[in-house]
Amino acid sequence: MAHIETWHRCPVCNQAYNNQGKAVKCRNNHPIKAESWAVGKDGKAVRILDRCTFNGRGGVNWALQEADLSDDIKMRTKQLEEGNR
Ligand SMILES: [Zn+2]
Repeated sequence: MAHIETWHRCPVCNQAYNNQGKAVKCRNNHPIKAESWAVGKDGKAVRILDRCTFNGRGGVNWALQEADLSDDIKMRTKQLEEGNR
């Protein structure tokens, strides 16, 4: 007759184990991912990614500048005008 088993699945990689201890060990074995973000003066955060050769976006300098710029288009235009003076 069929029987019921409890499987313990790692929430990170989805691997199933037949006991909780192994699953906990697996979960704790996954390294923490580190990300680099540029945070602007008003708290806007921009992820630092590799620079795109197509549109020129990305890279550290771009992210630092972008983080200080408002997402409001009018405000942004004003900030860019002031920055170019
Ligand atoms: Zn895992």
